[in-house]
Amino acid sequence: MQVYRLSALTDNYIFLLHDPKTKSAAVVDPAEASPVLQQLHALDAELVAIFNTHHHSDHVGGNRQLMQHFPNVRIFASAEDRGRIPGQQVFLQEGARVCFGERTAVVLFVPGHTRAHIAYYFLPTSDGEAGDLFCGDTLFAGGCGRLFEGTPAQMVASLSKLRALPDNTNVWCAHEYTLKNLQFALTVDGQNPDLQARFQEVKAARSRNQPTVPSLLGVEKRTNPFLRWDEPAVQAAANSTDPVQTFARIRGMKDRF
Ligand code: ZN
Ligand code: FE
Repeated sequence: MQVYRLSALTDNYIFLLHDPKTKSAAVVDPAEASPVLQQLHALDAELVAIFNTHHHSDHVGGNRQLMQHFPNVRIFASAEDRGRIPGQQVFLQEGARVCFGERTAVVLFVPGHTRAHIAYYFLPTSDGEAGDLFCGDTLFAGGCGRLFEGTPAQMVASLSKLRALPDNTNVWCAHEYTLKNLQFALTVDGQNPDLQARFQEVKAARSRNQPTVPSLLGVEKRTNPFLRWDEPAVQAAANSTDPVQTFARIRGMKDRF
């Protein structure tokens, strides 16, 4: 399975999964249809699946137009999002498995950004290979999604699920927010040498207009303050030793950053 990262809207990424053997493709969170149609044309591939992570328009905006071009496409989304996803046909719950090409993904229920948000974790195909996590607006490179419909406790539980995946997992998040996220991260975890180094790398990459997605989950664990509620430095910045309160306070600071 080959993953293509397509830019959409202002700062969204759409991920197109391609299986060359069957000339089929799937797409994660089509913010809009046109970049997807272009890439499908270039690959001469048929769209067989849409995997939505949550109902926000910058994640489902292309569903209808893609359905018109590919009437047989299956649209997968959270069971809890019933009624909010254009064209939804498959209603997924925690632990469900979905297949594309030779890969299988496990569905993780990760409420917080919205009350119904799910992530798709494509399992590694063999030992030592990397899995691929499509996490929408739950985990970002260097940050996490705003809490629109969920509580800090829910988001900590959701991010704990993601944090439990292997370090070599590729993290495919839906927005290019990394530089701003790391600028904030330095204000709460500024003595962290891994974070300092990552900030320099990301600053250089963005100045050349290079994408910072995907990132590696191991890097997120070492540098993303929203996965580090149990680190003394982050707890000190939040003036708390309680994981959920630490997370909530850091998230609040980021909202005002
Ligand atoms: Zn969103
Ligand atoms: Fe979004």
